[in-house]
Amino acid sequence: MRDAITRYEAAHQAMGTEFTLVAYGDDPQYLMAVGNEVFEEIDRLEGQMSIYRPKSELSVINRTAAARSVCVEPKLFALLVNAVDHSQSTGGAFDVTAGPLMKAWGFFRGKGRIPENSEIAQVLRRVGYRHLYLKRAECTIRFDVEGLELDLGAIGKGYAVDRAVEILRHYGVTRALVSSGTSSLYALGAPPGERAWSISLRNPYDSEKAANVIYLRDCSLSTSGNYEKFFKQGDKTYAHILNPSTGKPVENMLAAIVLAPCACDADALSTAFYVMGVERSREYLATHRDLMALFYLPRSRGQGFRRVILRSDGADAIGAFFTKTAARKRRATRKQTSKVSPSRISGAWATAR
Ligand code: ADP
Ligand code: MG
Repeated sequence: MRDAITRYEAAHQAMGTEFTLVAYGDDPQYLMAVGNEVFEEIDRLEGQMSIYRPKSELSVINRTAAARSVCVEPKLFALLVNAVDHSQSTGGAFDVTAGPLMKAWGFFRGKGRIPENSEIAQVLRRVGYRHLYLKRAECTIRFDVEGLELDLGAIGKGYAVDRAVEILRHYGVTRALVSSGTSSLYALGAPPGERAWSISLRNPYDSEKAANVIYLRDCSLSTSGNYEKFFKQGDKTYAHILNPSTGKPVENMLAAIVLAPCACDADALSTAFYVMGVERSREYLATHRDLMALFYLPRSRGQGFRRVILRSDGADAIGAFFTKTAARKRRATRKQTSKVSPSRISGAWATAR
């Protein structure tokens, strides 16, 4: 007789958000032990990468690397190399040195403020991945300008999700969903009896409403949204994703959602695509593989939003987006063309409906 499959669910506060884990297996104690190890690793990563902790390795790099080369722990170094690669390939839309801009706009511990153009111009002198010198043979980093600061806010939570998945795989867990709050998630395998995890994406204007349902298996998804961190002044909203070429918050974008084989890439690219907008992202996807992007854009007139879906080569194998209406129609006509069938999840990510 086969053992009954149990569902294990846990949540953990880290990196300013709530990580969640859902995993299936035949031994609840075992799943809990693996879950604890996952969360311990996430805490360790936060201790290493947080700019809110003066003693973290990243904070030490930020204070020191303009004066001299700093040795970096090899895995963190690999993440920095990956971040610089993303900066290069997105023409600087994703920029791991956006830290000083975040501070100028009051997003770091502050309530938000609008800096003068002259201040932005000053700050931009110490922003830019081109000021980073990474020596791969020695795992060292050096800044060529004083006051530059690394900020892993747009890639670190995705990276943490990938590390969590590594641990789950190492311990033989084959069906799990890991999320870093509303930032990134990875769908490992599928729930028992299902062919994929079903995720509801929130409506950009209303967190209680779903805008899309998406089916994922062995794939990650990240969201960058204007509703995550923002402040209002007058009738304008200023959100926490900054365009490194202007030094100002991106406008006319509600959310950019990216599917990719790993969460680290999905995280960096959701931020990059949010900055790049639809047309530049389309160009990016024309020269890269295994990616899908969904944009929620404001309508020029009236309420509501419109969706744009883009796919690169190879994207068909990694997941499937449906609008709720399309999903309903498919079910009603029983012409399920998707390779996957839905299952329900709960968690901070999405209200499954
Ligand atoms: P979330 O934090 O919800 O996952 P993102 O992945 O889009 O959202 O990351 C946004 C964070 O990344 C900001 O809070 C800031 O720390 C940092 N950031 C802002 N603009 C950029 C940018 N253009 N490139 C890289 N990092 C950025
Ligand atoms: Mg991101």
